[in-house]
Amino acid sequence: MLLAGCSQPPDPGQHRQFFALGTLIDITFYGIDSSTAEQAGTELEQLFLRMHADWHAWQPGILQETNHRLATQDEFSADPTLLPLLEAANRLSRLSNELFNPVIGKLIALWGFHSDERPAGPPPDKAAIRELVQQHPSVTDITLDNGRIRSSNPAVSYDLGAVAKGYAIDRGIERLRAHGIDNAIINAGGDLRAIGRHGDRPWRIGIRDPRGPGVLAAIELGDDESVLTSGDYERFFVYKGKRYHHIIDPRSGYPADSATSVTVIHTDATTADAAATALFVAGPKQWYAIARRMGIHYVMLIDRNGTIYMNPAMRQRIHFETEPADIHLSKPL
Ligand code: AMP
Ligand code: MG
Repeated sequence: MLLAGCSQPPDPGQHRQFFALGTLIDITFYGIDSSTAEQAGTELEQLFLRMHADWHAWQPGILQETNHRLATQDEFSADPTLLPLLEAANRLSRLSNELFNPVIGKLIALWGFHSDERPAGPPPDKAAIRELVQQHPSVTDITLDNGRIRSSNPAVSYDLGAVAKGYAIDRGIERLRAHGIDNAIINAGGDLRAIGRHGDRPWRIGIRDPRGPGVLAAIELGDDESVLTSGDYERFFVYKGKRYHHIIDPRSGYPADSATSVTVIHTDATTADAAATALFVAGPKQWYAIARRMGIHYVMLIDRNGTIYMNPAMRQRIHFETEPADIHLSKPL
């Protein structure tokens, strides 16, 4: 019989890769035997595929069922696997002054982003956008009590695209720890959480350049940190020479147009994910106030002119490939 942990020597770096949540998930294990990595990798793959199916915004599943029932305005029992994610999303939405708004699903669908294909445009009708914005879907319309849920606004429809990846990464890290794995990274298409170290050095990761193919900067991570980026390059269409992307300002109903990317470092990936989206919407004028409200300590925002904004603590940690001429430093967060 082969015994896990005894049969194979530790492997310094092993990967497990699969597709889920619309992106490549890459798990890096450090310093464990290959059968433990194999077992944990298989379990995580199943977990991520389950979460992908359950939380899908435009395919039948638990989230769609929940949205149908919310629209009736009747009270019902929330699915127990979905409930903690809804609670986290609602809390983070309030903290972000609702710039991260997980119940604007109808608006996202109107823009054509509830599709596996990239939408071709044209952008939706102005009047249709205005109507959805005026219905003001908000997490404050939702009552969640003892697992029972109801909405007082029929316009509310959950789209968890801005937070589900972070939440899934957090659940994945919990599962790795349950396997006794202390050194690993779960990377979901560039959004990640790292625990432990890479042997005798910290984990070091790259941040993508929002307007180029390469890496903009590198960051060394502490023992347990998440790095999440929201960018206008991830999902977009170009219509008559203008670019329309997937991060919508709930106040206007149009793609938020002042930032091109926001990177947030935070302990848990759920908070970092919601915050990156919220700060993207907030843009160069409002990011600082929203970051404070959300308890975020490391932010880098790049605006549409390529100007870089960040707080001093972030500045100390980030290593640029090419040092930018000018960085707008905020007050400490
Ligand atoms: P992220 O890449 O984390 O910023 O998430 C973007 C995704 O979240 C989009 O594809 C939409 O599904 C959804 N979304 C867009 N705008 C918002 C918003 N203001 N608040 C919450 N979710 C949003
Ligand atoms: Mg996000």
